[in-house]
Amino acid sequence: MSKLWSKMALRADPYIPGEQIDGKGIIKLNTNENPYPPSPHVAEAITQELDRKLNLYPSPTADSLRETIAVHHQLRPENVFIGNGSDEVLAFAFMAFFDPGKAIRFPAITYSFYPVYARLFDIPYETVPLARDFSITTCSFFQSDGGVIFPNPNAPTGIYLELEHIADIAKNNAGTVVIIDEAYIDFAGESAVSLINTYDNLLIVQTMSKSRSLAGLRIGYALGNAKLIEALTRIKNSFNSYTLDRLAIVGAEAAIRDQQYFAQQVERIVQTREWVTKRLKQNGFTVLPSQANFIFANHYKLSAKLLYEKLKRNGVLVRYFDKPEIDNYLRITIGTDTAMTVFFEKLGAVIAELVKDGVHARV
Ligand SMILES: *Cc1c(COP(=O)(O)O)cnc(C)c1O
Repeated sequence: MSKLWSKMALRADPYIPGEQIDGKGIIKLNTNENPYPPSPHVAEAITQELDRKLNLYPSPTADSLRETIAVHHQLRPENVFIGNGSDEVLAFAFMAFFDPGKAIRFPAITYSFYPVYARLFDIPYETVPLARDFSITTCSFFQSDGGVIFPNPNAPTGIYLELEHIADIAKNNAGTVVIIDEAYIDFAGESAVSLINTYDNLLIVQTMSKSRSLAGLRIGYALGNAKLIEALTRIKNSFNSYTLDRLAIVGAEAAIRDQQYFAQQVERIVQTREWVTKRLKQNGFTVLPSQANFIFANHYKLSAKLLYEKLKRNGVLVRYFDKPEIDNYLRITIGTDTAMTVFFEKLGAVIAELVKDGVHARV
C-alpha cells in the first residue's frame, strides 16, 4: 500500500492463480490445463509467421481468426470478439455491461475471478447460494438488477446446466446482460451459442486454454449479438488496440481448423474422466457429476486440506480452496491416463499413511 496509489489500485484484491511449478516428475493437476499438446498445425503456423511480419502490428480485430471462429460457430464476424485469454474478455465484459450502483448476481460457489473484477470496477454483487447438490437454482437468477454471470459447466463443481435453463435466465433478465462463461463447454453438453440469435442480452465467453490445449498462447473470445460485440470493441480500443499478437492469431486459427485432432483429445479426456471418477469413488470419495476436464471430490473421512498437503509433498499438485462449504473438496484436473495412474498410486499411499497414523478427523 502507498499513498501514491489510486483508489482503484487500493481497492484491488487480485486473483491468485493456481501454482505454476515446473519441477521434474511433478504431476500437475491444479490449473485445468490440457495435458495433451495442441494440434501440430499450431506450431507450423507460428513458425511460418515468425519468418514473416513481426515488424508489423497485427490486425487490431484479429480479422482472419474472427472469420475462422465465426465460421466454426455458424455465426458472422460481427458476432465475435477476441481477447488475450478469456479472463481479459471477461474483464472487458464487466466494464462494457455492468454498472456501479446495480448489483450483479453470480453463484456463491463459482470462478473466483468474478468478485475480483466486480471489486476493481466498483460493481456491487449478490452471491446466489447453490442447491444442496451444488446445482444452480435457475429462478434465483431471474430479474437481476445489474446482470448475471456464471460458468457452464460451473467451476469448481463441474456441474452442467441444461440449455433450457440458460434460455429461461436470459428471458427473465431482458434489460440486463447475462454472461455464460463456457470455459469447459467442449467437455460437456450443448453450448448456449445457439441462443444468441434469440436473446440479444446473452453473451457467451469461450477459451482456447482448456479444450484446445492453448493456455500458453492466451486466446479467449465472446459470441453474441453485434451490439454487445460493439461495446466490447469500444472498451478494448480504449485500452490497447492490439491485444492479440501475430503468433497467437495464426496459432489459434490452426487449432480451430484442426477439428479432428480437437475432437480426439476431448474424447480422450472425457474417457479418462469417467474411469478416474469410478476409481475415486472406490477410494472413498464422493464425486460431483463433472462435465468438465476436472473433478470436484471429497473424502468421506479425511480432510481435503491434509490430503492436498500430503499429495503435494509426494509430487502431486491438485487445487484446494480454503472457503466455506467447499473446504473439504479437492479439485483434480484430468491429466493423461499415465499421470492419473501415478496419481492413484500416490493417493493410495497417502491415504494408507493417514489411516495408519490414525488421522481421521476433518478440519
Ligand atoms: C480457465 C478459466 C477461464 C480463463 O481462461 P483463459 O482463457 O485462460 O483466460 C475463465 N473462466 C473459467 C471458469 C475458467 O476456468
